[in-house]
Amino acid sequence: SIRAPASKQTTTLAVVVKCRPLCVKERQRNRDIVRVNDNKEIIILDPDLSKDYLERVQNRTKEKKYCFDYAFGPESANLDVYEASVLSKVAGVIQGLNTTVFAYGSTGSGKTYTMAGTRDDPGLMVLSLHTIFDLIKRDCSSDAFEVTCSYLEVYNEVIYDLLEKSSGHLELREDPEQGTVVAGLRCIKVHSADRILELLNQGNSRRKTESTEANATSSRSHAVLEITVKRRQRNQYQNQVIRGKLALVDLAGRQVHETTSYERASETNNHGQKLRDGANINRSLLALANCINALGKQQKKGLAYVPYRNSKLTRILKDGLSGNSRTVMIATVSPSDSQYHHTVNTLKYADRAK
Ligand code: ADP
Ligand code: MG
Repeated sequence: SIRAPASKQTTTLAVVVKCRPLCVKERQRNRDIVRVNDNKEIIILDPDLSKDYLERVQNRTKEKKYCFDYAFGPESANLDVYEASVLSKVAGVIQGLNTTVFAYGSTGSGKTYTMAGTRDDPGLMVLSLHTIFDLIKRDCSSDAFEVTCSYLEVYNEVIYDLLEKSSGHLELREDPEQGTVVAGLRCIKVHSADRILELLNQGNSRRKTESTEANATSSRSHAVLEITVKRRQRNQYQNQVIRGKLALVDLAGRQVHETTSYERASETNNHGQKLRDGANINRSLLALANCINALGKQQKKGLAYVPYRNSKLTRILKDGLSGNSRTVMIATVSPSDSQYHHTVNTLKYADRAK
């Protein structure tokens, strides 16, 4: 059978870090404090190196080192990240496996660049779509495929359809067969990667903010592109239909006041710690972070409770984060000394997830 064995119901989680280059402005005023070794290891240098020795010792800052499934530096293209960490999972989607890929990091660290990319450096959404349609072309003489796509935004815990010109608020419903569904969400049948990319561009222009500058609003919008591939095997012995789903998520940025400290008893569930709910915290981002944390534990130590129900985003993504799903978390960081605390927070978080 094409399905993975039922006994292996664990979600695999790969954690990848991508450090963007310094931007033009940063090159004038900031130092590059990030080093990547062997596509695995990332080192954050002491941002206070220029200060005198005594001050450094008193602040007790020193270089920090982390190891991930993959680490990519400023010279790496989105294609490098894709080929190493996402390609094989996307290939599984047309075999009926679910995959979720998301970018996590502070505002301005490169999430949208990684997911959407540019013409010269296409992002993971674009590259994944090309793979899906290439593979379908390869297999379409034996099997019939149907590809549908939806694109939504979760903004302040309200769901909007990015494929509609002026979308109202959409609600989540529990369907006995399909599980959690977004009622009224447009699901468009597509026949080529180019068509989806067109939809994607239209959708992006409808996002509550497209801005790449660090501001309050850009850190609240999550965009979820979902591609469903339905495959009917045309073979004389069986007429089986399998369905694989690929969710590609451009997450909201982490906010300035957010901390990742694990505290406050009321916020702690009985299966482990939860992140602290600071001022203006983004509920969906926090809930996803907690799910990822639980998945990481599940992978290391066996079964752990994964709290999907706590936000709109995690309810929407549940299928792609449970069962036989494969999840890829891309932690994006800036190399600039001015982003030191954000970078360390993101890497600490990613480190706990792996
Ligand atoms: P985020 O979505 O995390 O807020 P963006 O993806 O908008 O951040 O990136 C912030 C800025 O950095 C943008 O101007 C973007 O073009 C630039 N940038 C991000 N990653 C790269 C990269 N790998 N190469 C070149 N420029 C990048
Ligand atoms: Mg962005």
